[in-house]
Order: sequence, then structure tokens, then C-alpha cells
Amino acid sequence: MVPVHDLGVAALAILGVAFLIGWSSARLNQATLLWGIAHLSLAGATFTGYRYHLQPESQWLGTAATLLTGFFLASLHGGTNFLRGRIIGPGALIGRSLGVAFLIAVVGFGGDKNAGSILVLGLMMLVYGVSAYLCLRMHYRLLAAAFSLKTAAFLLYFLEPSTIGTPFQNPDVLAVGWVSSVLLGLVLVDAAIAQTRQRLTNVIKHLPDALVARRLDGKILFCNDRFAQLAGSTSPAELEGQQVPLLTREQEEAEAMFRKVNAMVRSGPLDEPMRLERSITPARGEAFPAEIIFSSYMDLGYPVILGLIRDLSERKRGEEERLHQANTDQLTGLPNRRFLEQQLDAVLWIAQRQHTQCAVLLIDLDHFKKVNDTLGHAFGDEILRDIAQALRDQLKPGDLLARLSGDEFALVMAGLPSLMSILEVEARALALLQLIRRQFKSDDMDYQIEATIGVAFSGREGLSAPVLLQHAEVAMYESKARGRGGWCFFESDMDERLAESLRLESALRQAVPRAELRLHYQPIYSCSTGRMAKAEALVRWESPQLGWVPPGRFIPAAEESSLILELGQWILEEAIRQAAQWRAQSSFAPVVSINVSVRQFAQPGFESQVFALLDRYGLPPSGIELELTETLLASDQENLPALLHRLHDAGVGLSLDDFGTGYSSLSYLSRFSLNTVKIDRSFVMGLQESSRNHSLVRAIISMAHSLHLNVVAEGVETWRQYEILKAEGCDYQQGYLLGRPMAAEQLRAHPQVVAGEESNIPDAVI
Ligand code: C2E
Ligand code: MG
Ligand code: MG
Repeated sequence: MVPVHDLGVAALAILGVAFLIGWSSARLNQATLLWGIAHLSLAGATFTGYRYHLQPESQWLGTAATLLTGFFLASLHGGTNFLRGRIIGPGALIGRSLGVAFLIAVVGFGGDKNAGSILVLGLMMLVYGVSAYLCLRMHYRLLAAAFSLKTAAFLLYFLEPSTIGTPFQNPDVLAVGWVSSVLLGLVLVDAAIAQTRQRLTNVIKHLPDALVARRLDGKILFCNDRFAQLAGSTSPAELEGQQVPLLTREQEEAEAMFRKVNAMVRSGPLDEPMRLERSITPARGEAFPAEIIFSSYMDLGYPVILGLIRDLSERKRGEEERLHQANTDQLTGLPNRRFLEQQLDAVLWIAQRQHTQCAVLLIDLDHFKKVNDTLGHAFGDEILRDIAQALRDQLKPGDLLARLSGDEFALVMAGLPSLMSILEVEARALALLQLIRRQFKSDDMDYQIEATIGVAFSGREGLSAPVLLQHAEVAMYESKARGRGGWCFFESDMDERLAESLRLESALRQAVPRAELRLHYQPIYSCSTGRMAKAEALVRWESPQLGWVPPGRFIPAAEESSLILELGQWILEEAIRQAAQWRAQSSFAPVVSINVSVRQFAQPGFESQVFALLDRYGLPPSGIELELTETLLASDQENLPALLHRLHDAGVGLSLDDFGTGYSSLSYLSRFSLNTVKIDRSFVMGLQESSRNHSLVRAIISMAHSLHLNVVAEGVETWRQYEILKAEGCDYQQGYLLGRPMAAEQLRAHPQVVAGEESNIPDAVI
């Protein structure tokens, strides 16, 4: 006959093994592991404990029973604590088990055996009781009830205290103990399963995406809170068994999709999840963009379709934000070049189809760099924002405005009916120029901001956006070259000119380093003595790529590109060196006239550069004369009068070149410290034919004399001109008649006296 105790042992061992099987399927659930260990230990403890009672002389049985009891108590408690989120490590478990075993041994072996049994029972009751309490607090009610039953079962042992710990306990009491054990085990297994299920439910519940599982007939098997919320339901349970809502306004399209997914799943589970982007319309609230992912699985032989709805609003917003940033100029908030080019392509495409025109107005600010450099970037930024706003305020429907770069804006006028719209575009360009023009004062300095505009029409050829913008740019440069503050239409030969000027510029860059420049000198004779008094230094350039290039072509190009500074410095040094060399070698000492461009003069340190060179070559300041242009005098350079004054005072000659061709303002002659006026060749040319020219020349000479200025006549080509000029009292003459520009050594050998004038020269001088 099987002993009652052994039946109990078997029941506990099966329970323990059941726990361990449960643990093996959900390894993270330490509670099932610990409870498994606990009940296997209890089975062992009961087995050995009972044997020990039968053979009290076998001490090892008692020791084993005590140790196993210790393990049982510590593991059971550890497992229950795990449900509260407290994880117990193997070291702590063994430590606690040994501690409890030691306590039992001290009481049991050291003292009364009954006392040991009572202690064990007491501890078991305590651990089960605490477990019942913890489970109740965590709302595991069934589990709490089972633990309570187990605790209560132990109380029965105390009903017959004389049999405690003996094999002769009341079988009914033992039966209650086993039943409660089995009951507890079942409940615990259920709790472990419930825990695992709860965890899965929590994951699904807290999923930020909406999740729904449906059958082929559209009935919902389960869904999460987010899906219930989209469907306008308070809880997912409410939706179970109902028809899945389509959550869109495009019902037809959604139904087609529903059927398509069904058809695919019917032919077998989906190998790959199916993804699509759609707008989702929830039962309440705004529609939003979403990604819908379908997958499928088999549930008890029936296909189930899993749908996941991911809200893409955030991502789309981020993408839109990034796109906006990539297309927007951060400073002004206007569209940038990239955006304009994209839009312009579309505008051009439409224009071609509608047989309309569009015009690009490229607006470049003048003098902005000066404002930026002197008043700081923050101030410059403020101006750009201000101008951007003004441009934005004048926009008309269909216009496109963008900031292309630093001080460059573009306005696209679209939908112009025909090329006759030129007048409209012209009016717009003028209005823009006025809109942008602004003047202000800062630190007693006057600043003026203007714009230059280049206009290009789309024409009929179907141009691309970059080409059209390039045309507008070419027109803008052309307009700048004609004088800032205006506007200019693109013409097809401008491209050619631009390319040529770029070729010229790149060749010119090499001119100084490769020593391709030479200075030629043209003699200037005194009318009173007939002797060569001065020589004008004129630069010559023979480029290996372009051949001989006249200064009238490359000097303006150099002026545009600041190359003139390098070039000018070379010319200045070479002319001073040559003048000093003539003086040092012989009595030949013409004053050397040096042409100086506006930008050279405006360059800081120009004055010290001149004096340093004079010093280096040992030439007195009176050995040179600087030829200035009227453009320089009109340039409003703040410290120009003082600078000219200092040069003049030091003895450097200053002459005004090409007088009569530019502004010809008489006020310059009196305002600046000049020595000489050079009458332009165009007046000299017409001297014989036109009495008007004659009168003009006479007036210039007498006016210059009244201001104590000398007069040089340029471009004298005939003896008749020579005679007239001499008779009118002109002081010096220069021209092909008297000598062409020539190399320095040739000038040295050139007649020192004008032919036929030798008689005028005092003997001492000859
Ligand atoms: P510019 O300063 O008025 O120089 C006089 C120009 O008239 C020279 O032309 C000279 O060769 C030319 N010329 C002189 N006499 C006659 C004549 O009787 N008939 C004709 N038809 N022409 C005559 P070039 O050398 O071609 O220089 C043209 C301009 O280039 C100069 O005009 C000057 O503005 C500029 N340039 C020349 N060399 C330099 C230079 O070294 N520095 C600067 N900044 N500009 C220079
Ligand atoms: Mg000159
Ligand atoms: Mg001249």
C-alpha cells in the first residue's frame, strides 16, 4: 500500500515540475522558476522528513529535510516577491535558504524536535501568509485566496498538536494540505499564464500604433486601445466581433483594398508585410497621414489579418520642415535659389504650353559690400531683411520672388501675354529700383543703397531655368558696366561679350607675373620752348593667347576686377624707375605722366606707395605727374581733396586727363589742387573744321590759365592743329605729329625739340 505521505510527496513533485515546465516556456518569469524549486524542495523535505521520523538515528535525513525546508521557504518567498518586481539572485537565494535551515536546525536539533516542527510550520504559514497579502495588494485575488487557503490548512495541524511532525497525523488534515497544495499549484500556474498574457496585452495596449486583427469576413478578433480610439469606441473589448471600420473617406478605395488583402491572404499567408500610405480619418478628430502595414498568420487553421496603422504626421511634419528649410533663405524667409530654379522650370513649362512669356528680373544691390564692411554684418542683415520685406510687399499674383545669394534677389513675372509686355516689365524694373533705393547716414558718413537689374525673357525657345537666370545675370553685369543703378534687357550677343571679358580677365591675371607688360612713352612738348618737357607712360600688353591688346580694352576690364591694383602698382613702379634711370644717366629728364585709375586712388596706402617708390629710386616728387580722370574727381571719395592736396604740396604734379569728355565740371578745377588740364583729343581733332571746337578750346585754355593751370593738348596730328593751339596759348602739345608712344630707349633718341622750333630756344638751353 502506498503510504499517504508518499502520495503527498508525488503531488508536490508534480507541481514543482509543472512550474519548471511553465518557466521553460517563459524564462523571464522568475516566479515560476522559484515556485518550481520551492515545491520540488518541499517534496524532498516531506520525503526525507518523514523518513527521518521513522529512523531518527539517520541524522543526514534530518539535515537534508532541514536544508530542503530552508530552500522551500526562501524560494517560495522569492517567487512571490518577483511578482512585485523584486528579482532575487542565486546567491541571495542560497544565502537565505541556508539561513532559514540554520534557524530550523538550531531550534529542532538543539532543542525540542516538536519545537523545530512548530517553527517550520510557523515559517511556512508566515511565508504563505505574506504571499497571500502581497498578491492581494497586487490584485491577484485568486492567487491570494489560494495562498490564504494554504495558510489556513497549516492551522489545522495545530488542532492536534501532539501529532505535529509525526507520521501519524490525521489523514483528513493531510488531505486538506495536499488539496490546498494542488489547488495552489493550479492557481499559480494560471497566475503565471495570466502574467504572461498580461504582459502581451500591455505591450499591445501601450503600442503607439493602432493594431487590429481581423478575420477574412472583417470581424475583429482583437484590437488595441489606439485602434479603439480611432474607431470612436471606449474600449477594445467593445469592438471585438464587430465589423472592422475602414477609417477613411475614400470608402470605395478602402473596400477595394480590403478585398485585395483578403484575396492575397486566401492564396496563402503573406510572405512579406504589405505597406501602403493612406490618409486615415478617425471617428473623431482630424484626418492624418498614416502608414498601414498588413501581415497575416494562421489561428486554429483560419487566416487572420493583422493591420497596423502608424501615424506619420510627425514624420511628415519633420519632412515638410526639412523641405521648407532646404528651400528657404534663413535670413529673409524668402525662397532660395534652389526653390526658384525648381519653380521656374515649372513656370517655363506652363508658359510654353499657354503661349505666354515670363521675365526674370535679377536684382543686385550696389554698394552693399561697403555697407556690410563698414557698418557690420548685423546692420547689413537688417538692410537685406528690410529690402526683402519691401520686395515681398509689392508682389502681384503669379509673381515669384527669391533671394539668390548675398545681395542678389530675383523676381519672376509669369503669364505675360506677349513680348509686348516689355513696357510692363520696364515699368516694374523702374518701380523696383525706386523701391530699393535708400540713403542713410551713420557716423557722419553718407550711405546709399541702389540696385542694378538685369532682365531676361523666356522667349519662344523653351529655355531652362538656369539658362534664363544666367541670361538675367549677364544683363545685370552689362547694366552694371553701363553705370550702376539702372536696368538692362538681355541681348543674345551679351553672352559672347561676357565670355570674352572672362577670357580677357583670366589672361590678364597672368600678365604681371609673366612680365607681359611694357611701358611706352609718348613725348609731350612745351609750346613756349619747343622742347620735350614730359612723357606720358602708356601701358602695352602683348598676351601670348590674345596677341596685342590695346589698353582701352584691358584697362576697363582690369578696373572691373580689382586686377587694376596689381597692374597699377607695376606701372607706377616701372614709370618711376624709368624716370629715375633717365635722370641718373644723362641730362634727359622729362616729367613722366602716369595714368592712375580710380580704384588705385581709392586704395588705402596709395599715397605712401607713391612716396616709398620715389624714395626707393631717388626721384624727386616733381619728376612725376599723375593723370587723373574726371570719374575720380566725381567719385565723391571722402578724403580725396586732402589726399590730392598732400601730393600737390609734396611736389607731385597732378593733371586732369581727357578734359571735356566727362562731367567737365568747372568746379573740379578750382576744388582740387591740380597743375594741368589735358584737353581731350576729340576737341583737337575738330579744331580746323569746327569753329565751335575752336571756341571751346580757346575757352578751356583761358579758363585754365585764369585758375593758374597749365594746358596740354592731346592727339595733335597736324601742323595746322599745332599752330592753332600754340596761337591760343596752349602750354604743351602731345600727339602722333610729335611722336607716337614708344619704348624708353627710343624716346631717349627722339628729337628733343619740335622740328622748326629750334629758333625759339635760347642758346644756353641748346
Ligand atoms: P589717355 O591717358 O588719354 O592716353 C592717350 C591715348 O591717346 C593713348 O592711347 C595714346 O596712344 C593716344 N594718342 C596719343 N596721341 C594720339 C594721336 O595723335 N592720335 C591718336 N589717334 N591717338 C593718340 P592708348 O595708349 O591706347 O591708351 C588709351 C587709354 O588707356 C589712355 O588714354 C588711358 O586712359 C589708358 N591707359 C593707357 N596706359 C595706361 C596706364 O598705364 N594706366 C592706366 N590707368 N590707364 C592707361
Ligand atoms: Mg593719359
Ligand atoms: Mg587722355
